[in-house]
Amino acid sequence: MIKITSLDTYQDLKKAGEGFICIKDNTRINKVHSVSCRWINIRNLKKKIIENSCKQGEYFYSLDYQKLHLTFNAIACRNCSKVKEIKEWCT
Ligand SMILES: [Zn+2]
Repeated sequence: MIKITSLDTYQDLKKAGEGFICIKDNTRINKVHSVSCRWINIRNLKKKIIENSCKQGEYFYSLDYQKLHLTFNAIACRNCSKVKEIKEWCT
């Protein structure tokens, strides 16, 4: 698992198009998304990790959905529930 701390890292992962990102948010329930989810975007990421210096939220990446789910007690994003690996864990 890696913590995303730069926009470069984020862009590499997004380009690769594989795996999952958990948004750890202090004000909301932690959620796991596929990297291709529309909620995973540079605007939100920039706000959280650059402008707010990860104070309110952090981004973690893994190829393993289950790992993120268990580590952060995170739920699957509803928009991502059509992704096969996530769907299996929703049921
Ligand atoms: Zn999502």
